[in-house]
Amino acid sequence: ASEEAYLPTEVLHGYRRLLQRGGGDRGFESLWSYYAQNPSPRIRTVLERMQDLGERRLADMDGFGVDHQIVGLTCPGVELFDVEQARELARLTNDRIADACARHPDRFSGLAAVALQDVDFSIGELERAVRELGLRGVIVNSHARGQYLDDPRFDSLFAKAAELDVPLYLHPNTPSDGMIEPLLDAGLDGAIYGFAVETGMHLLRIIFAGVFDRYPTLRLVAGHLGEALPFWLFRIDYFHDLQARSGRYPSRPRLDYPPSHYLRNNVWLTTSGMAWAPAILFTRGVVGPDRVLYAMDYPYQAEAAEVAVHDDLPIPLDEKRRLFETGAREVFRLHVPAAVDGEASA
Ligand code: MN
Repeated sequence: ASEEAYLPTEVLHGYRRLLQRGGGDRGFESLWSYYAQNPSPRIRTVLERMQDLGERRLADMDGFGVDHQIVGLTCPGVELFDVEQARELARLTNDRIADACARHPDRFSGLAAVALQDVDFSIGELERAVRELGLRGVIVNSHARGQYLDDPRFDSLFAKAAELDVPLYLHPNTPSDGMIEPLLDAGLDGAIYGFAVETGMHLLRIIFAGVFDRYPTLRLVAGHLGEALPFWLFRIDYFHDLQARSGRYPSRPRLDYPPSHYLRNNVWLTTSGMAWAPAILFTRGVVGPDRVLYAMDYPYQAEAAEVAVHDDLPIPLDEKRRLFETGAREVFRLHVPAAVDGEASA
């Protein structure tokens, strides 16, 4: 399962302090005033699960039929904190995840947290996390206070990920203050819809800025079946071609390929939160069966029924193995022993 959330207790405390004194963005306030302050049993369970990287999580995985999780810092990461606190919490997160991976190498792999307020730190921390801690990629919780990764200041992060041969997981965040207004008053800012439009747009920004032309070996992973981009792909290609030929946006670089090329060559998509056969089958048809990987989105959508939906997909066994296991092994270059009993693999 390749998009599984972790939240160190120290970061949760940081979110609570930020809620009390203000200074986050509107999406953060909407999302985390709900998760950090809601006393309902469901939310308390989600929070407890999120902070655990030990027996509780392992027992859940056993119960759901998940052999192995790829763990990453949940949204909004540390980008709303002041820079010193952000650096400290990113390092702490990476050390904790690495510790869990060392204790349970057959059960956990991890993605590195960075602090995009400080790009030089982020590059160094990614290198430390991969080379010294053995983490298998970097997770970016989408925009950082309204800044997107296609900004040239983040180019060195792509260069470092390509150099280290690790993927960048573009994980959702609530929409930025510049985007959230009409979503917020309709109750659409969170995972129900706002995450997808924000993160799908972010991925298109990265593609349209020519990042993959500059770093053709760069691997990017997006969740939620590509935040609906596969459904739009025909129209995106069609109008990108018209726009490129008309010169309507002269500041945009001319891409080497149609936008769909990058979704089919540089990007892998996970099924996080989208345990729905019609959408999974459609997405595999559009981007290719090899590019879709299983994810649960634990603990936000932790349901054994979601694993069963994937297990019941009408696809050949070798493709199912790829969806559940070998695809993630390749994209994240996992060093994980094969499951003892292949039949028992979710
Ligand atoms: Mn997620």
